[in-house]
Amino acid sequence: MRLYEDEAKRVFEREGLAVPRPVGVFESAADVGKAVGPGAAVMLKALVLIGGRGKAGGVRRAAGGAEAAALASDMLGRRIRGYPVERLLVEEAVATTGGAAYVGVTMNPADFNVAVIVSPAGGVDIEQVARETPEKILRVELTANEAALPDAEASRLAGFLAVGLPGGAAQAGALKTVVSRVYAAFQKYDCKVAEINPLLITGSGPVAADAKIVLDDNGLFRQGGLFRFLGLTTARHDISEPTRNEIRARAAGFKYVDLLAEDHVKDPSKLYVGLVPGGAGYGIFSIDEVGGIGDRFFGGRVVPVNFMDSGGGPTVAMVGEMFDLLFDYEPVDLVITSRFGGISSCDVFIRGLVGCLRERRRAGQRVVPVVGRMVGTDLPSAREFLERAKRETPVELEDMHITVGNRKIMAEIIREGIRFAFDRKGWA
Ligand code: GDP
Ligand code: MN
Repeated sequence: MRLYEDEAKRVFEREGLAVPRPVGVFESAADVGKAVGPGAAVMLKALVLIGGRGKAGGVRRAAGGAEAAALASDMLGRRIRGYPVERLLVEEAVATTGGAAYVGVTMNPADFNVAVIVSPAGGVDIEQVARETPEKILRVELTANEAALPDAEASRLAGFLAVGLPGGAAQAGALKTVVSRVYAAFQKYDCKVAEINPLLITGSGPVAADAKIVLDDNGLFRQGGLFRFLGLTTARHDISEPTRNEIRARAAGFKYVDLLAEDHVKDPSKLYVGLVPGGAGYGIFSIDEVGGIGDRFFGGRVVPVNFMDSGGGPTVAMVGEMFDLLFDYEPVDLVITSRFGGISSCDVFIRGLVGCLRERRRAGQRVVPVVGRMVGTDLPSAREFLERAKRETPVELEDMHITVGNRKIMAEIIREGIRFAFDRKGWA
């Protein structure tokens, strides 16, 4: 569940971070005009649950009450990237004397490590900084998931900011406090994301000019105190931005999570592996196992791209759509699949996969090699169907390698599949 900016700022302030002095939250331009003094410099900020408001006209500066009212009447009722603007946060404008930093804490969904990311090139899109000037970003991954940021890491992160930020050197101690407190807030409130962008350097120390907090829905039951603090009685429906793949999967009726950002730039030296597992548990296992085998045997050059779960008893069409989604997903080089048939049938699974490959090959659509294993319910009929299918359409199924039964464990199949894909690319 994502918090609105005013809520996130109240949380950060509660944890000892400096935020701009709020004038209030408003639904009408006339009220804004009344609340802002004649010579007061204020920021008007659209309270919508989406980033990039600055570029879309959702963050404006006014030099007094009259200008603030005029801007408010222009902003209210508009849409920012599709989201209607119904309320505005008005706060004292922060006068910056130095640079703007980025400070973010998040969790890597592939391995559950907490990542603390800082950059002295804040204010703009941090993904753009990562693409164009990656040397301006320091990312520290913590594997032990401590409640407090270890002192050595806090010093390293703050030092990186202090060196890179205009006016930062004199505030190294305060920057360390900020990084530590954002991290502590992330842990205390069971966050998925706790982020300040920009953190502005001012004469009286760093100030969080923008704040983003996304709570982990699975931790909400522990956050009664936070809900009371914010005056919330029920959880809001999580409207974090789904990716195109996630929207497509939701429409088809299966669970899917992208592990890569939508604008991820593919590393051409790595193999990107899509996963069609049997169920949720196997889905998590596969992510871990593909990453682990990649690290141990392939020099860390293997990237799992997704989590997926069909739920019990998918139809042939749904199985086909699960593979279609990954074949259509440009980064994917190889698909690893496993059908551990319990509730679900191997027969339905293999008909879905074979049907998908045949249709795509005949239509000239993109396919990538598929390796995997099936065991369990309806295996005899699934085996018979598979053998006949390979005889009848060998070309369409040439890059499909499905082991039938328990001759090998999945770890072996994953390793052999990656080897096959590496050989195909001519990689060592
Ligand atoms: P976002 O675009 O949705 O992330 O909204 P932000 O709150 O980050 O605002 C966009 C940009 O407006 C920031 O990157 C800053 O450059 C600028 N900004 C926002 N608030 C202030 C402020 O109080 N003072 C100054 N000087 N700039 C601000
Ligand atoms: Mn921002």
